[in-house]
Amino acid sequence: SAKNSGRQCFRFFTKTMQESATQRMRLTTDLRHAIRQNQLHVYYQPILDLRQNHFYKAEALLRWQHPELGFVSPAEFIPIAEDTGMIHAIGDWVFMQTLEQIKSCQTVLGQSVQISVNKSPVQFLEDRGDQHHWLELMNEANISGESIVIEITEGVLINNDVRVSHSLLQCRDAGIQVAIDDFGTGYSSLSYLKKFHVDYLKIDQSFTQSLKLDSSEFALCEAIIVMAHKLGMQVIAEGVETEEQLTILKQMDCDFAQGYLLSRPIPADQLMTFLRHNNPSVPNA
Ligand code: C2E
Ligand code: MG
Ligand code: MG
Ligand code: MG
Repeated sequence: SAKNSGRQCFRFFTKTMQESATQRMRLTTDLRHAIRQNQLHVYYQPILDLRQNHFYKAEALLRWQHPELGFVSPAEFIPIAEDTGMIHAIGDWVFMQTLEQIKSCQTVLGQSVQISVNKSPVQFLEDRGDQHHWLELMNEANISGESIVIEITEGVLINNDVRVSHSLLQCRDAGIQVAIDDFGTGYSSLSYLKKFHVDYLKIDQSFTQSLKLDSSEFALCEAIIVMAHKLGMQVIAEGVETEEQLTILKQMDCDFAQGYLLSRPIPADQLMTFLRHNNPSVPNA
């Protein structure tokens, strides 16, 4: 009967919810020890400069290798880190790893590289002095701001929050660049683009992956690129998986591309090898 199937439905959802709540509790407990137990790693995904045809940029992406559960996606554990405040410690750790990586790349390659780091809204809005701490770490490591990009999502900018604008001004004073991540998926208002200084727009992979001549994604990407250039910003297309997408993006005058076609996110030591082999001008140091 309808009543029975209704009850079954109810039971089904309850069980699923219980399982995910249990899983979440377990991840919360385990995440607390993950850094100390060397389960977290920063991977780097190279970014191709479409005009110069070289890779001197990369994005830092966090990886968690859980001893029993295996690989846990950041899409699953970053929200937990945000809800519990662990994101501050984890974010600082990612930033320190990135500074080290920038330093060793520059030493080995004799070239400056630029690595972008994702910064969660929570790191802006819960004031634990994260920004100030990052600038200190940067100075201690003797790394200049030009080597660092901070990736934020549109949501961080729409409320015109003074904590956010203060942090971004501090970045700018230090020479750190700012990128809007997942551009196009957030908010329809573009007015924040004139209020804040933004260096890069990262076109979300949902657009890139549906790029075909005559598609609405084609029109949207083209419009984003034209607008960005008029406002003095550069564009990075995320999630490039096919040669066809890459060709179209080049024709549209897109500045940079990132995606599995070019490279998956790779561990630190592999990044060095990748940069050495894919940048023709680099001496075989
Ligand atoms: P994001 O910053 O937009 O990162 C891009 C995501 O797209 C990454 O997923 C990357 O592995 C994936 N990707 C790159 N190229 C391709 C492609 O060609 N095809 C497809 N299908 N995917 C591609 P990942 O590493 O799973 O990270 C997911 C999200 O987790 C990131 O999205 C970011 O929002 C967050 N995240 C990752 N690391 C950190 C971190 O250190 N701090 C913070 N706050 N968030 C992070
Ligand atoms: Mg990102
Ligand atoms: Mg993104
Ligand atoms: Mg994302």
